[in-house]
Amino acid sequence: MRIDLRSDTVTKPTKEMLEAMLDAKVGDDVYKEDETVNKLEERLANMFGKSHALFFPSGTMANQAAIKLHTNPGDQLICDKYSHVFNYEGGGVSFNSGVSCKLIDGNRGMFSATDVIEAINPPDFYHSPLTTLVEIENTTNKGGGACWDFNEIKKIRQVCNDNSLGLHLDGARLWNALIEGDETTHDYGKVFDTISVCLSKGLGCPLGSVLIGDELLMKNAIRIRKILGGGMRQIGFMAAAGLYALDNNIEKLNEDHKKAKEIASVLNNCTYINSVEPVETNIIIFSLNNTMSELEFINKLESQSIFISNLGRGKLRIVTHIDYSRDMHSRFLEVLSML
Ligand SMILES: *Cc1c(COP(=O)(O)O)cnc(C)c1O
Repeated sequence: MRIDLRSDTVTKPTKEMLEAMLDAKVGDDVYKEDETVNKLEERLANMFGKSHALFFPSGTMANQAAIKLHTNPGDQLICDKYSHVFNYEGGGVSFNSGVSCKLIDGNRGMFSATDVIEAINPPDFYHSPLTTLVEIENTTNKGGGACWDFNEIKKIRQVCNDNSLGLHLDGARLWNALIEGDETTHDYGKVFDTISVCLSKGLGCPLGSVLIGDELLMKNAIRIRKILGGGMRQIGFMAAAGLYALDNNIEKLNEDHKKAKEIASVLNNCTYINSVEPVETNIIIFSLNNTMSELEFINKLESQSIFISNLGRGKLRIVTHIDYSRDMHSRFLEVLSML
């Protein structure tokens, strides 16, 4: 039994999802004639109370397009030092938009409205880059799946209003945050100007992210997607997977979160553990003490066909997902206690 816990992107479509894909009615989406894509976009726009949504091949492209929509070359955006847009999108912020990042030294990828106020460059001080955008990630990836306090987000919205800044949400794992929190998709739609959500992480689709926003900003999104090379043709087959996932897989995230908490509590009792970060969703970040090196730990797991991620600097990561079964879970917990 191969147990792959490196990421929630390693999942494969189920038979039911594949059947939904095969049944899809498709057309050329570059001409906006793919009715399944149109349906998915309309559904997500409505879900968040926004007028527009646009399907993208990846979350990276959706975020990069959003940043381009909100900024001009030379501008600066504010984000956490852990953020995906800064760390894991290949330097796209500068490559695609000519924009720099003002990094906030936050807590597990999250920061406060006061931090934002301090990070804004005075707009009339022409020596500094012009601050035009704030970017938030929920849940935080490098922050170990932590969920934002929605009240802090609302305060940041107010700061953005006071300073004419855009507010973008990297919601690659927003589904996980929604499952744990009391807020609705509409609450998120009200607070953010643009939101990217991912269909290929927790929801188990082979690909796809969607950027959601109102007309004023989104009318240019299709041009930017074209420039980035993201215009796709009969992509309704993939949109059908997305529609299937929205109907069937959001609730299943509860199971991923439960298993992640169980893994954390087993780890906390293992002699080789230094510390385990608090687990709120489906990501577990932990470190080992000097009784075992990361390499030794990973090799021992791999010899049992179990795979996890090494984040470097002593941090290891486990991510639970829809293809991680009950059987795998029992086996994994057993192996962890035996090491
Ligand atoms: C995975 C991820 C993305 C990007 O998604 P891709 O589809 O891999 O490009 C963006 N933001 C966060 C927080 C992610 O975890």
